[in-house]
Amino acid sequence: MLIALELAGFKSFADKTRFDFPDGITVIVGPNGSGKSNVVDAIKWVLGAQSAKALRGKDMIDVIFKGSSGSGRKAANSAEATLVFDNTGKQLAIDSEEVHVTRRVYRSGEGEYLINNQACRLKDIRDLFRGTGVGVDAYSLIEQGKVDRMLQASPKDRRVIFEEAAGISRFNAKKAEAARRLLRVDQNMIRLKDIVDEVLKRLNSLKNQATKAQRYREMTSRLAEIRLQLGWTEYSQLLAQTQQAATKLEELQAERDRKSAELSEVRAAAQQAEMDLHRVAEACQTVEAALQDALQRIAVSQNQQSSLRLRLEENQEEQVRVQGRLAILRRRLETLQDEFDTLTEQQQQAQEVYDAARESSRQSRLAKC
Ligand code: ATP
Repeated sequence: MLIALELAGFKSFADKTRFDFPDGITVIVGPNGSGKSNVVDAIKWVLGAQSAKALRGKDMIDVIFKGSSGSGRKAANSAEATLVFDNTGKQLAIDSEEVHVTRRVYRSGEGEYLINNQACRLKDIRDLFRGTGVGVDAYSLIEQGKVDRMLQASPKDRRVIFEEAAGISRFNAKKAEAARRLLRVDQNMIRLKDIVDEVLKRLNSLKNQATKAQRYREMTSRLAEIRLQLGWTEYSQLLAQTQQAATKLEELQAERDRKSAELSEVRAAAQQAEMDLHRVAEACQTVEAALQDALQRIAVSQNQQSSLRLRLEENQEEQVRVQGRLAILRRRLETLQDEFDTLTEQQQQAQEVYDAARESSRQSRLAKC
């Protein structure tokens, strides 16, 4: 069934190399170190070998061509190997005449598997070849020293090889897979039973909650209705209040206009009053100046009054003194008056005497005449 092996960058096969295996090919011959084992490694690698050691390397990326000092060729960035199988007999469960199985690995360590150039999992490749004798652990690849190991293998290990050769390993694997699935189903059933018990336990609680939820929904709906009615009532009231407020606003605006006019008048009056006040203030200043002047004059007058009072006191004292002297003089005058009266009386008497004397003298002269 193996038609060809294609290698590129795999171990010593730096260039793309194709090995065709037409009918009759039974062996590859070459000198030591020419790369015969690398061909077997490539077949094992494509079929999913996971051990770098089994591929005679330390790491999986050791399969990538690492350059050659002899030819001066640089190392490759990736390694690729493809097995081409004849599938005209449809032994492999794929609807194509040829099946190409590819594995690639890059220096970054990333790798991939492909079946007929479609990316796939390693499991898909293993499933594809199960029961055909093709596989890393199957009997189709018998390396150096493996014959001995097979002959010395335990009956159990040997049975695996015979089962693979008989083609029943595929069914064994399916059986094992089915048993695993059945086990999982049993475990799932147990878990489901637990879940059902738990769900049944919670069912009553959920029923109660559902009743409460139903009640809550009804109450919520009722609440929404009441809220709507309340909202409508409040809306109507607010509308009425808004209209009242609008009327009140108009009145207040009119009142404000009136007050504004009054305010203008009052401002004008205030301005006038201010001017008057200014005038009065000026008058006050004049009066104050006059007052200051008057106060000064009053102070002068008070000084004069003090000196006059002093002089008055002096005059009063003088008056007292004069009055004393006047009393004395009055008394003297009275005395003098008395004396005068006496003298006047004496004068009159003297006059009378004189007159009498004169009369007597005249009469004497007349008498002599
Ligand atoms: P023998 O008959 O001695 O077993 P052989 O023909 O099987 O030899 P291999 O062991 O397949 O030869 O090949 C060994 C050669 O492959 C060596 O020359 C080695 O340098 C070369 N080789 C192995 N890995 C790489 C690699 N990653 N890059 C380049 N060359 C490699």
